[in-house]
Amino acid sequence: MNTIFPTDKILLRADKEKMLKQRGIAIWMTGLSGSGKTTIAIALEQELHKKGLLTQVLDGDNIRTGINNNLGFSDIDRTENIRRIAEVTKLFVNCGVITICCFVSPTEEIRNIAKTIIGPTDFIEVYVNTPLEICEQRDVKGLYARARKGEVKDFTGISAPFEASVNPNVEVKTNEMSVEESVKRILNKINI
Ligand code: ADP
Repeated sequence: MNTIFPTDKILLRADKEKMLKQRGIAIWMTGLSGSGKTTIAIALEQELHKKGLLTQVLDGDNIRTGINNNLGFSDIDRTENIRRIAEVTKLFVNCGVITICCFVSPTEEIRNIAKTIIGPTDFIEVYVNTPLEICEQRDVKGLYARARKGEVKDFTGISAPFEASVNPNVEVKTNEMSVEESVKRILNKINI
């Protein structure tokens, strides 16, 4: 009989973290659309991968098109969107995975819901702080132009509010810092 891993028990998070030689955490990127969350997450993931660490990036592309494809942008749906994302994140974190979440998450209330579900000790809040004018100039997906014309409703920063993150673990200002500098600052904070 295997005395280390009894066959009648689900493996513990600690067993998985020991195997992976890493600790599961959620790196929660909040900021306006076009602020740089996904760009920084991709660069961060590549750095972590080079160090032999297991990661997963969650963003609108793999969440809103899949598990949350029935949700819109009303207050109720935004809250449900974040609740499900946080529950999924928690599953990854419990497997020891460094999970990088890129969601506008525009209010303290919404960020706190995520933090409470994931657990404060596993939750690193990164505020990608880029002025609205710059996000709008970048207009990566053309959404700001459409929001200004009223074609996209409840668009954060234009027709829906964004509350600045009050007490983030890390703040990066992409109008003053390169992607590499932002990644370095996050790596320093998570001590990897
Ligand atoms: P979000 O995921 O927050 O919606 P994206 O990462 O998709 O934002 O888009 C950010 C855009 O800003 C990209 O086109 C990126 O190349 C550009 N960008 C310019 N400078 C920076 C920087 N210093 N950090 C992050 N992104 C930057």
